[in-house]
Amino acid sequence: MSATSEAAPLPRFLAVDLGERHLAAGIVAADGTMGIRDRVVTPSRDPLDALLRLLDRVLAATPDDQRPLACAVSGPGPVDEASGAFRPIGMDRWHGLPIRKAVAERTGVMTMLESSGRAYAVAAAEGESVLALHLGDQVDGGVVVDGALIAGANGRAGMFGHLLVEPNGPECSCGAVGCLEVFAGVQSIVTQTGRDLISTPAALIDRAGIMVGRACASLAAMVDVRRIVVGGVLIEVFRDRFVDQMRSEFEERCRLSHLSDATIRVVQHHVLTGAATVARAMDIGEAAPRSALDI
Ligand SMILES: [Zn+2]
Repeated sequence: MSATSEAAPLPRFLAVDLGERHLAAGIVAADGTMGIRDRVVTPSRDPLDALLRLLDRVLAATPDDQRPLACAVSGPGPVDEASGAFRPIGMDRWHGLPIRKAVAERTGVMTMLESSGRAYAVAAAEGESVLALHLGDQVDGGVVVDGALIAGANGRAGMFGHLLVEPNGPECSCGAVGCLEVFAGVQSIVTQTGRDLISTPAALIDRAGIMVGRACASLAAMVDVRRIVVGGVLIEVFRDRFVDQMRSEFEERCRLSHLSDATIRVVQHHVLTGAATVARAMDIGEAAPRSALDI
């Protein structure tokens, strides 16, 4: 790197993450350094208004030489490109709200939306190949091959929450039965138990680990990716008990010789890292998950 480029300020991006329990926003530099950031508890009413006020606060506190070049918002997928909205299955809070337009107008920078799972996959890949599952409010993820996130016909590849893992399982919010989401999605588990996630019975933690391990074995065989990563709040809470069950089931189910060195690693990111990586990819035009979007 030349002396000239070393002296230039790093590009900055506005990263936003929307969850059932939090709204987070912050300024993140191209090298991942976090700047001004803030978060609030997701309100039960008018979440878009609360989000825009959060962005106002973050931008008001941002020094002039750290103004963001672009913005990315991660949230409950899938994303509806035409309307610039999240359209999560079975979760009403963010469904159909015109997030992209509202954020772009408020901040004055090009804005794109990406599902939390796909954003996690882009960040976890670090430009290489990875199969990523994000176990948060939803079970979501993505497949990255040689740095490029697989899009799919509708830009929604990676909705791993709706993989069939138990043919006789309970009904999922999508209308099918036995989806991974029912067993390993935070919202599904909390709804089933009526308890906080931390109070989930051990049998359900074991079951979640088994189902995720089973799904990972099928996915590894399907896409021939050795590097599998999992992250999200479910693992933060369920910890070793979950991870042990997941790994054990994966090893039991994954018998293909060419995948004998496939591994599942737990990789946790800051809540804004996925969106920051998406924004950076959009700004520099490198293997962006989707084409950059007009508002
Ligand atoms: Zn489903």
